[in-house]
Amino acid sequence: MINSIERQIIKYGNRNLEYNVVFMKRKTIAITVKTDKTIEVKVPLEAEEYQIQKKILKKARWIIKQINYFTQFNPGETKRYYLSGETHLYLGKQYRLKIKQSEKNSIKLQKGYFIINTKENTNEKVKKIFTQWYREKAYQHFKPLIEKIYSKLKKYNIEKPQYKIRKMPKRWGSLTKTYIILLNPELIKAPKECIEYVITHEMCHLIHPNHSKEFYKLLTTLIPQWQKIKHKLEMKLS
Ligand SMILES: [Zn+2]
Repeated sequence: MINSIERQIIKYGNRNLEYNVVFMKRKTIAITVKTDKTIEVKVPLEAEEYQIQKKILKKARWIIKQINYFTQFNPGETKRYYLSGETHLYLGKQYRLKIKQSEKNSIKLQKGYFIINTKENTNEKVKKIFTQWYREKAYQHFKPLIEKIYSKLKKYNIEKPQYKIRKMPKRWGSLTKTYIILLNPELIKAPKECIEYVITHEMCHLIHPNHSKEFYKLLTTLIPQWQKIKHKLEMKLS
């Protein structure tokens, strides 16, 4: 049974390690690095901050090794608990979560906050409201981008592709054999230029199926700074 969660940061060398402290009924401090690169520190209810920090610094080298290992598997979804105070991403910006009890379920963005009104204030319910909202926003934002990129690629005699939103553990997007673009709903958390990059990449495959020289040439014509954006995407959601 989790009692409360705190997000903390500690400096180790020149890096900041951000971790979730999970207070719960237990005797020892345990550190886990999840496949999404979240650092989770389970601690006893009475644990003091200095004890937790000491433990993390002692294990820091191992933590970084784990993070580096998991970095090759993108895009992982960051572990969230759906509690007030937690930060959530939307179009590359971080918003703090504020959950309010209400008769009706709703979600809105206001002055740096995600305000969630919910009838049942449970993690599952809040998560459900969020997931649905992200999906709606994904459809809203992805469609015009496909139109925009298609207008630049039309001259290659391709048909406008269909697209679907699909959760994929290791990919932002992909193109099926039947020319349907699959886009990860997690992408809506990334900056708009990153979303545009992923869709452009997949749409370039409509013309060049493989990652050939021609493929990259076309991609570079459409987005000259694509490598920088790709890097940003890999960093941002981690
Ligand atoms: Zn590709």
